[in-house]
Amino acid sequence: MRSISIFGATGSIGTNTLDLIRRDKGAYSVVALSGAGNIALLAEQAREFNAEIAITALPERLSDLRDALAGSGIEAAAGADAIAEAATRKVDWGMSAIVGAAGLRASMALAQHGGILALANKESMVCAGDLLLASCAAHGTTMLPVDSEHSALFQAMNGEDAKGLRRLILTASGGPFKDFTTEQMRGVTPEQAVKHPKWNMGQRISIDSASMFNKALEVIEAKYIFACAPEQIEVVVHPQAIVHSMVEYIDHTIIAHMGSPDMRGAIGYALHWPERAPNPIAPLDFATLGSISFASPDEEKFPALRLAREALSMGGHAGAIFNAAKEAALDAFIAKKIGFLDMADLVEKTMYDAQLEPIRDQAQQTLAQIFAADAEARALVNARI
Ligand code: NDP
Ligand code: MG
Repeated sequence: MRSISIFGATGSIGTNTLDLIRRDKGAYSVVALSGAGNIALLAEQAREFNAEIAITALPERLSDLRDALAGSGIEAAAGADAIAEAATRKVDWGMSAIVGAAGLRASMALAQHGGILALANKESMVCAGDLLLASCAAHGTTMLPVDSEHSALFQAMNGEDAKGLRRLILTASGGPFKDFTTEQMRGVTPEQAVKHPKWNMGQRISIDSASMFNKALEVIEAKYIFACAPEQIEVVVHPQAIVHSMVEYIDHTIIAHMGSPDMRGAIGYALHWPERAPNPIAPLDFATLGSISFASPDEEKFPALRLAREALSMGGHAGAIFNAAKEAALDAFIAKKIGFLDMADLVEKTMYDAQLEPIRDQAQQTLAQIFAADAEARALVNARI
Protein backbone atom coordinates (compact mmCIF):
# COMPACT_ATOMS: atom_id res chain seq x y z
CA MET A 1 0.00 0.00 0.00
CA ARG A 2 1.21 3.49 -0.84
CA SER A 3 1.00 6.19 1.80
CA ILE A 4 -0.17 9.55 0.52
CA SER A 5 -0.99 13.06 1.73
CA ILE A 6 -2.82 15.82 -0.10
CA PHE A 7 -2.38 19.47 0.85
CA GLY A 8 -5.21 21.49 -0.63
CA ALA A 9 -7.47 18.40 -0.68
CA THR A 10 -10.70 20.41 -0.83
CA GLY A 11 -9.69 22.40 -3.92
CA SER A 12 -9.97 21.69 -7.61
CA ILE A 13 -6.69 19.73 -7.83
CA GLY A 14 -7.29 18.05 -4.46
CA THR A 15 -10.76 16.76 -5.33
CA ASN A 16 -9.54 15.56 -8.75
CA THR A 17 -6.70 13.73 -7.01
CA LEU A 18 -9.10 12.05 -4.60
CA ASP A 19 -11.36 11.16 -7.52
CA LEU A 20 -8.50 9.07 -8.93
CA ILE A 21 -7.55 7.58 -5.56
CA ARG A 22 -11.20 6.66 -4.91
CA ARG A 23 -11.18 4.34 -7.94
CA ASP A 24 -8.49 2.17 -6.33
CA LYS A 25 -8.92 2.84 -2.61
CA GLY A 26 -7.28 -0.38 -1.45
CA ALA A 27 -3.96 0.70 -2.98
CA TYR A 28 -3.52 3.77 -0.78
CA SER A 29 -3.38 4.71 2.87
CA VAL A 30 -4.12 8.39 3.42
CA VAL A 31 -2.03 10.16 6.03
CA ALA A 32 -2.93 13.88 5.89
CA LEU A 33 -5.59 15.93 4.09
CA SER A 34 -5.68 19.71 4.38
CA GLY A 35 -8.16 22.41 3.47
CA ALA A 36 -9.14 25.86 4.66
CA GLY A 37 -12.74 27.13 4.77
CA ASN A 38 -14.55 24.09 3.39
CA ILE A 39 -14.74 22.16 6.66
CA ALA A 40 -17.69 19.97 5.69
CA LEU A 41 -15.89 18.66 2.60
CA LEU A 42 -12.59 18.22 4.45
CA ALA A 43 -14.27 16.15 7.17
CA GLU A 44 -16.19 14.11 4.60
CA GLN A 45 -12.97 13.37 2.69
CA ALA A 46 -11.08 12.48 5.88
CA ARG A 47 -13.83 10.06 6.91
CA GLU A 48 -14.18 8.52 3.46
CA PHE A 49 -10.44 7.89 3.10
CA ASN A 50 -9.86 7.22 6.81
CA ALA A 51 -7.09 9.81 7.01
CA GLU A 52 -4.76 9.95 10.01
CA ILE A 53 -5.13 13.73 10.31
CA ALA A 54 -7.22 16.53 8.78
CA ILE A 55 -5.99 20.11 9.02
CA THR A 56 -7.72 23.37 8.26
CA ALA A 57 -5.60 26.44 7.54
CA LEU A 58 -8.01 28.51 9.64
CA PRO A 59 -7.43 28.33 13.43
CA GLU A 60 -10.89 29.80 14.09
CA ARG A 61 -12.45 26.77 12.37
CA LEU A 62 -10.73 24.11 14.51
CA SER A 63 -13.76 23.49 16.71
CA ASP A 64 -15.98 23.08 13.62
CA LEU A 65 -13.52 20.56 12.23
CA ARG A 66 -13.38 18.70 15.56
CA ASP A 67 -17.19 18.56 15.65
CA ALA A 68 -17.36 17.31 12.08
CA LEU A 69 -14.85 14.54 12.87
CA ALA A 70 -16.34 13.56 16.24
CA GLY A 71 -16.29 9.81 16.84
CA SER A 72 -14.09 9.08 13.81
CA GLY A 73 -10.78 8.84 15.66
CA ILE A 74 -9.25 11.17 13.04
CA GLU A 75 -6.93 13.83 14.43
CA ALA A 76 -7.97 17.44 13.81
CA ALA A 77 -5.57 20.39 13.66
CA ALA A 78 -5.54 23.98 12.43
CA GLY A 79 -3.23 26.74 11.24
CA ALA A 80 -0.27 27.13 8.91
CA ASP A 81 2.15 25.56 11.41
CA ALA A 82 -0.09 22.51 11.79
CA ILE A 83 -0.19 22.09 7.99
CA ALA A 84 3.61 22.35 7.84
CA GLU A 85 3.91 19.80 10.66
CA ALA A 86 1.52 17.36 8.98
CA ALA A 87 3.55 17.67 5.79
CA THR A 88 6.60 16.33 7.63
CA ARG A 89 4.73 13.04 8.30
CA LYS A 90 6.42 10.58 5.99
CA VAL A 91 4.57 9.52 2.86
CA ASP A 92 5.48 7.78 -0.39
CA TRP A 93 3.53 10.30 -2.45
CA GLY A 94 2.61 13.86 -1.49
CA MET A 95 0.42 16.26 -3.46
CA SER A 96 1.16 19.96 -2.98
CA ALA A 97 -2.05 21.69 -4.11
CA ILE A 98 -2.65 24.59 -1.74
CA VAL A 99 -3.21 27.78 -3.70
CA GLY A 100 -0.59 30.55 -3.59
CA ALA A 101 2.68 31.03 -1.71
CA ALA A 102 0.81 29.62 1.31
CA GLY A 103 1.64 26.23 -0.22
CA LEU A 104 5.41 26.67 -0.08
CA ARG A 105 5.96 25.21 3.40
CA ALA A 106 4.05 22.03 2.53
CA SER A 107 6.07 21.65 -0.70
CA MET A 108 9.35 22.11 1.19
CA ALA A 109 8.34 19.52 3.80
CA LEU A 110 7.18 16.99 1.19
CA ALA A 111 10.51 17.45 -0.63
CA GLN A 112 12.25 15.87 2.34
CA HIS A 113 10.53 12.47 2.23
CA GLY A 114 12.62 10.78 -0.44
CA GLY A 115 9.43 9.73 -2.24
CA ILE A 116 7.41 11.64 -4.81
CA LEU A 117 6.44 15.29 -4.62
CA ALA A 118 3.55 15.85 -7.01
CA LEU A 119 3.74 19.61 -7.48
CA ALA A 120 0.61 21.46 -8.52
CA ASN A 121 1.52 24.53 -6.45
CA LYS A 122 3.49 26.40 -9.11
CA GLU A 123 4.03 29.29 -6.70
CA SER A 124 6.53 27.09 -4.79
CA MET A 125 8.73 26.94 -7.89
CA VAL A 126 8.28 30.64 -8.70
CA CYS A 127 9.18 31.77 -5.18
CA ALA A 128 11.79 29.21 -4.21
CA GLY A 129 12.73 27.10 -7.24
CA ASP A 130 16.41 26.72 -6.34
CA LEU A 131 15.70 25.86 -2.70
CA LEU A 132 12.96 23.39 -3.49
CA LEU A 133 14.92 21.54 -6.16
CA ALA A 134 18.06 21.46 -3.99
CA SER A 135 16.02 19.97 -1.17
CA CYS A 136 14.52 17.32 -3.48
CA ALA A 137 18.01 16.43 -4.69
CA ALA A 138 19.44 16.28 -1.16
CA HIS A 139 16.68 13.93 0.02
CA GLY A 140 16.34 11.76 -3.09
CA THR A 141 12.80 13.04 -3.72
CA THR A 142 11.41 12.94 -7.25
CA MET A 143 9.52 16.12 -8.13
CA LEU A 144 6.83 15.48 -10.71
CA PRO A 145 5.14 18.57 -12.16
CA VAL A 146 1.34 18.50 -12.12
CA ASP A 147 0.74 21.80 -13.88
CA SER A 148 -0.58 20.46 -17.20
CA GLU A 149 1.97 22.30 -19.37
CA HIS A 150 4.91 21.17 -17.28
CA SER A 151 3.62 17.62 -17.05
CA ALA A 152 3.32 17.72 -20.86
CA LEU A 153 6.90 19.00 -21.24
CA PHE A 154 8.17 16.43 -18.74
CA GLN A 155 6.48 13.66 -20.73
CA ALA A 156 7.80 15.01 -24.04
CA MET A 157 11.33 14.86 -22.62
CA ASN A 158 11.14 11.25 -21.48
CA GLY A 159 14.33 9.49 -22.45
CA GLU A 160 15.74 12.58 -24.18
CA ASP A 161 19.09 14.19 -23.46
CA ALA A 162 18.71 17.77 -22.18
CA LYS A 163 21.65 18.74 -24.44
CA GLY A 164 19.37 18.24 -27.44
CA LEU A 165 16.77 20.71 -26.22
CA ARG A 166 16.14 23.82 -28.31
CA ARG A 167 12.87 25.36 -27.12
CA LEU A 168 10.03 24.77 -24.71
CA ILE A 169 6.73 25.93 -26.15
CA LEU A 170 4.10 26.53 -23.48
CA THR A 171 0.55 26.65 -24.76
CA ALA A 172 -1.98 29.11 -23.36
CA SER A 173 -5.71 29.04 -24.05
CA GLY A 174 -5.76 32.85 -24.04
CA GLY A 175 -8.54 32.93 -21.44
CA PRO A 176 -11.98 34.58 -21.75
CA PHE A 177 -10.62 38.00 -22.84
CA LYS A 178 -8.39 36.82 -25.67
CA ASP A 179 -10.34 38.85 -28.23
CA PHE A 180 -11.20 41.83 -25.98
CA THR A 181 -9.69 45.24 -26.60
CA THR A 182 -7.75 46.89 -23.78
CA GLU A 183 -10.70 49.24 -23.33
CA GLN A 184 -13.09 46.30 -22.93
CA MET A 185 -10.76 44.61 -20.43
CA ARG A 186 -10.66 47.72 -18.26
CA GLY A 187 -14.23 47.15 -17.08
CA VAL A 188 -14.36 43.37 -16.64
CA THR A 189 -15.55 41.92 -13.31
CA PRO A 190 -14.18 39.01 -11.26
CA GLU A 191 -17.34 37.08 -12.21
CA GLN A 192 -16.43 37.42 -15.91
CA ALA A 193 -12.73 36.73 -15.35
CA VAL A 194 -13.33 33.48 -13.47
CA LYS A 195 -15.11 31.86 -16.43
CA HIS A 196 -12.34 29.94 -18.14
CA PRO A 197 -13.35 28.74 -21.61
CA LYS A 198 -11.61 25.36 -21.43
CA TRP A 199 -10.32 24.34 -18.00
CA ASN A 200 -12.37 23.90 -14.85
CA MET A 201 -10.09 25.22 -12.07
CA GLY A 202 -10.06 27.10 -8.76
CA GLN A 203 -11.13 30.77 -8.66
CA ARG A 204 -7.66 32.31 -8.35
CA ILE A 205 -5.92 30.38 -11.13
CA SER A 206 -8.93 30.97 -13.40
CA ILE A 207 -8.62 34.75 -12.99
CA ASP A 208 -4.84 34.45 -13.42
CA SER A 209 -5.51 32.69 -16.71
CA ALA A 210 -7.66 35.59 -17.87
CA SER A 211 -4.87 38.10 -17.12
CA MET A 212 -2.16 35.68 -18.37
CA PHE A 213 -0.47 35.93 -14.97
CA ASN A 214 -0.94 32.18 -14.80
CA LYS A 215 1.13 31.72 -17.96
CA ALA A 216 3.65 34.21 -16.60
CA LEU A 217 4.08 32.11 -13.44
CA GLU A 218 4.40 29.05 -15.66
CA VAL A 219 7.27 30.59 -17.65
CA ILE A 220 9.19 31.07 -14.40
CA GLU A 221 8.16 27.60 -13.20
CA ALA A 222 9.46 26.06 -16.45
CA LYS A 223 12.80 27.82 -16.15
CA TYR A 224 13.44 26.17 -12.79
CA ILE A 225 12.00 22.73 -13.50
CA PHE A 226 13.77 22.29 -16.83
CA ALA A 227 16.90 24.31 -16.01
CA CYS A 228 16.84 26.17 -19.33
CA ALA A 229 17.54 29.75 -20.34
CA PRO A 230 14.51 32.09 -20.27
CA GLU A 231 15.04 32.74 -24.01
CA GLN A 232 14.34 29.05 -24.67
CA ILE A 233 10.81 29.36 -23.31
CA GLU A 234 8.10 30.51 -25.67
CA VAL A 235 4.39 30.96 -25.17
CA VAL A 236 1.81 30.35 -27.91
CA VAL A 237 -1.89 30.92 -27.68
CA HIS A 238 -3.82 27.77 -28.53
CA PRO A 239 -7.51 28.31 -27.70
CA GLN A 240 -8.63 24.68 -28.05
CA ALA A 241 -6.30 23.57 -25.18
CA ILE A 242 -5.69 20.19 -26.82
CA VAL A 243 -1.90 20.53 -27.19
CA HIS A 244 -0.75 20.91 -23.60
CA SER A 245 2.78 22.02 -24.54
CA MET A 246 5.62 21.13 -26.91
CA VAL A 247 9.36 20.53 -26.86
CA GLU A 248 11.54 21.40 -29.82
CA TYR A 249 14.89 19.64 -30.18
CA ILE A 250 18.01 20.85 -32.00
CA ASP A 251 17.09 18.81 -35.07
CA HIS A 252 13.85 20.89 -35.22
CA THR A 253 11.75 17.90 -34.28
CA ILE A 254 8.84 18.96 -32.11
CA ILE A 255 7.21 16.57 -29.66
CA ALA A 256 3.75 17.74 -28.62
CA HIS A 257 1.67 16.38 -25.76
CA MET A 258 -2.04 16.16 -26.57
CA GLY A 259 -5.15 15.18 -24.68
CA SER A 260 -8.47 16.40 -23.34
CA PRO A 261 -8.23 19.44 -21.06
CA ASP A 262 -8.81 17.52 -17.82
CA MET A 263 -6.38 17.85 -14.90
CA ARG A 264 -6.83 14.19 -14.03
CA GLY A 265 -4.49 13.51 -16.98
CA ALA A 266 -1.51 15.23 -15.37
CA ILE A 267 -2.47 14.14 -11.83
CA GLY A 268 -2.85 10.52 -12.95
CA TYR A 269 0.52 10.63 -14.70
CA ALA A 270 2.18 11.79 -11.46
CA LEU A 271 0.26 9.21 -9.44
CA HIS A 272 1.30 6.23 -11.55
CA TRP A 273 4.71 7.39 -12.75
CA PRO A 274 6.88 5.80 -14.10
CA GLU A 275 4.09 3.57 -15.36
CA ARG A 276 0.93 4.52 -17.21
CA ALA A 277 -2.48 3.50 -16.00
CA PRO A 278 -6.02 3.84 -17.38
CA ASN A 279 -7.53 7.23 -16.65
CA PRO A 280 -11.20 8.35 -16.66
CA ILE A 281 -10.57 11.38 -18.91
CA ALA A 282 -12.36 11.59 -22.27
CA PRO A 283 -10.28 10.21 -25.14
CA LEU A 284 -9.53 12.58 -28.01
CA ASP A 285 -11.50 11.96 -31.17
CA PHE A 286 -9.63 13.50 -34.08
CA ALA A 287 -12.57 13.00 -36.43
CA THR A 288 -14.73 15.41 -34.42
CA LEU A 289 -11.97 17.67 -33.09
CA GLY A 290 -12.08 20.07 -36.03
CA SER A 291 -9.19 22.46 -36.46
CA ILE A 292 -6.70 23.60 -33.89
CA SER A 293 -4.91 26.93 -34.09
CA PHE A 294 -1.87 28.76 -32.73
CA ALA A 295 -1.03 32.47 -32.41
CA SER A 296 1.47 34.73 -30.65
CA PRO A 297 0.31 36.23 -27.36
CA ASP A 298 -0.32 39.97 -27.32
CA GLU A 299 2.14 41.23 -24.71
CA GLU A 300 0.82 44.79 -25.00
CA LYS A 301 -2.63 43.67 -23.92
CA PHE A 302 -1.29 41.11 -21.43
CA PRO A 303 1.85 42.63 -19.82
CA ALA A 304 2.14 39.72 -17.34
CA LEU A 305 4.37 37.74 -19.71
CA ARG A 306 6.82 40.62 -20.13
CA LEU A 307 6.90 41.14 -16.36
CA ALA A 308 7.70 37.46 -15.76
CA ARG A 309 10.64 37.71 -18.16
CA GLU A 310 11.84 40.81 -16.34
CA ALA A 311 11.57 38.95 -13.02
CA LEU A 312 13.64 36.12 -14.47
CA SER A 313 16.35 38.46 -15.65
CA MET A 314 16.45 40.14 -12.21
CA GLY A 315 16.94 36.75 -10.47
CA GLY A 316 17.34 36.61 -6.69
CA HIS A 317 14.06 37.15 -4.93
CA ALA A 318 12.29 38.73 -7.88
CA GLY A 319 10.15 35.61 -8.42
CA ALA A 320 8.84 35.71 -4.85
CA ILE A 321 8.16 39.44 -5.15
CA PHE A 322 6.45 39.04 -8.52
CA ASN A 323 4.21 36.30 -7.14
CA ALA A 324 3.35 38.06 -3.88
CA ALA A 325 2.55 41.33 -5.67
CA LYS A 326 0.33 39.39 -8.06
CA GLU A 327 -1.44 37.62 -5.16
CA ALA A 328 -2.10 40.90 -3.33
CA ALA A 329 -3.31 42.59 -6.52
CA LEU A 330 -5.57 39.61 -7.24
CA ASP A 331 -7.06 39.85 -3.72
CA ALA A 332 -7.84 43.51 -4.42
CA PHE A 333 -9.41 42.72 -7.80
CA ILE A 334 -11.58 39.96 -6.29
CA ALA A 335 -12.64 42.43 -3.57
CA LYS A 336 -13.50 44.90 -6.37
CA LYS A 337 -11.08 47.52 -4.99
CA ILE A 338 -9.15 47.74 -8.26
CA GLY A 339 -9.83 47.07 -11.94
CA PHE A 340 -8.58 44.14 -14.02
CA LEU A 341 -5.79 46.10 -15.72
CA ASP A 342 -4.61 47.61 -12.43
CA MET A 343 -3.24 44.20 -11.42
CA ALA A 344 -0.35 44.26 -13.89
CA ASP A 345 0.29 47.92 -13.11
CA LEU A 346 0.63 47.22 -9.40
CA VAL A 347 2.87 44.22 -9.98
CA GLU A 348 5.18 46.24 -12.23
CA LYS A 349 5.42 49.15 -9.77
CA THR A 350 6.14 46.76 -6.90
CA MET A 351 8.81 44.83 -8.80
CA TYR A 352 10.71 48.07 -9.39
CA ASP A 353 10.04 49.69 -6.03
CA ALA A 354 13.29 51.06 -4.63
CA GLN A 355 12.38 49.79 -1.16
CA LEU A 356 12.57 46.23 -2.45
CA GLU A 357 15.92 46.59 -4.20
CA PRO A 358 18.10 45.18 -1.42
CA ILE A 359 15.73 42.26 -0.86
CA ARG A 360 15.22 41.56 -4.54
CA ASP A 361 18.89 41.42 -5.35
CA GLN A 362 19.88 38.80 -2.76
CA ALA A 363 21.30 35.84 -4.64
CA GLN A 364 21.25 33.50 -1.65
CA GLN A 365 17.80 32.06 -0.91
CA THR A 366 16.59 30.99 2.51
CA LEU A 367 12.98 30.30 3.31
CA ALA A 368 12.91 33.11 5.87
CA GLN A 369 14.19 35.60 3.28
CA ILE A 370 11.61 34.46 0.76
CA PHE A 371 8.80 34.97 3.26
CA ALA A 372 10.19 38.39 4.16
CA ALA A 373 10.29 39.38 0.47
CA ASP A 374 6.75 38.07 0.05
CA ALA A 375 5.48 40.10 3.03
CA GLU A 376 7.23 43.30 1.91
CA ALA A 377 5.80 43.03 -1.60
CA ARG A 378 2.26 42.48 -0.31
CA ALA A 379 2.59 45.47 2.02
CA LEU A 380 3.74 47.69 -0.84
CA VAL A 381 0.84 46.64 -3.05
CA ASN A 382 -1.66 47.20 -0.25
CA ALA A 383 -0.18 50.64 0.46
CA ARG A 384 -0.88 51.61 -3.17
CA ILE A 385 -4.53 50.52 -3.18
P1 NDP B 1 -8.50 25.91 -5.25
O1 NDP B 1 -8.76 27.30 -4.90
O2 NDP B 1 -9.56 25.12 -5.94
O3 NDP B 1 -8.09 25.09 -3.92
C1 NDP B 1 -7.10 25.57 -3.06
C2 NDP B 1 -6.92 24.65 -1.88
O4 NDP B 1 -6.07 25.30 -0.92
C3 NDP B 1 -8.20 24.35 -1.12
O5 NDP B 1 -8.06 23.10 -0.49
C4 NDP B 1 -8.27 25.47 -0.10
O6 NDP B 1 -9.11 25.16 1.00
C5 NDP B 1 -6.81 25.55 0.30
N1 NDP B 1 -6.38 26.85 0.78
C6 NDP B 1 -6.80 28.08 0.39
N2 NDP B 1 -6.11 29.04 1.02
C7 NDP B 1 -5.24 28.40 1.83
C8 NDP B 1 -4.25 28.86 2.76
N3 NDP B 1 -4.01 30.16 2.98
N4 NDP B 1 -3.53 27.93 3.44
C9 NDP B 1 -3.75 26.61 3.23
N5 NDP B 1 -4.68 26.13 2.39
C10 NDP B 1 -5.40 27.02 1.68
O7 NDP B 1 -7.14 25.89 -6.07
P2 NDP B 1 -6.70 24.92 -7.26
O8 NDP B 1 -6.94 23.50 -6.88
O9 NDP B 1 -7.25 25.44 -8.53
O10 NDP B 1 -5.13 25.20 -7.30
C11 NDP B 1 -4.23 24.66 -6.36
C12 NDP B 1 -2.80 24.85 -6.86
O11 NDP B 1 -2.63 24.09 -8.05
C13 NDP B 1 -2.48 26.31 -7.24
O12 NDP B 1 -1.14 26.55 -6.95
C14 NDP B 1 -2.70 26.33 -8.75
O13 NDP B 1 -1.92 27.31 -9.39
C15 NDP B 1 -2.24 24.93 -9.13
N6 NDP B 1 -2.82 24.42 -10.36
C16 NDP B 1 -4.17 24.24 -10.45
C17 NDP B 1 -4.75 23.78 -11.62
C18 NDP B 1 -6.21 23.49 -11.69
O14 NDP B 1 -6.67 22.93 -12.67
N7 NDP B 1 -7.02 23.84 -10.71
C19 NDP B 1 -3.94 23.52 -12.82
C20 NDP B 1 -2.52 23.72 -12.61
C21 NDP B 1 -1.99 24.16 -11.42
P3 NDP B 1 -10.73 25.45 1.03
O15 NDP B 1 -11.23 25.17 -0.36
O16 NDP B 1 -11.21 24.45 2.05
O17 NDP B 1 -10.93 26.86 1.44
MG1 MG C 1 -1.06 25.23 -16.29
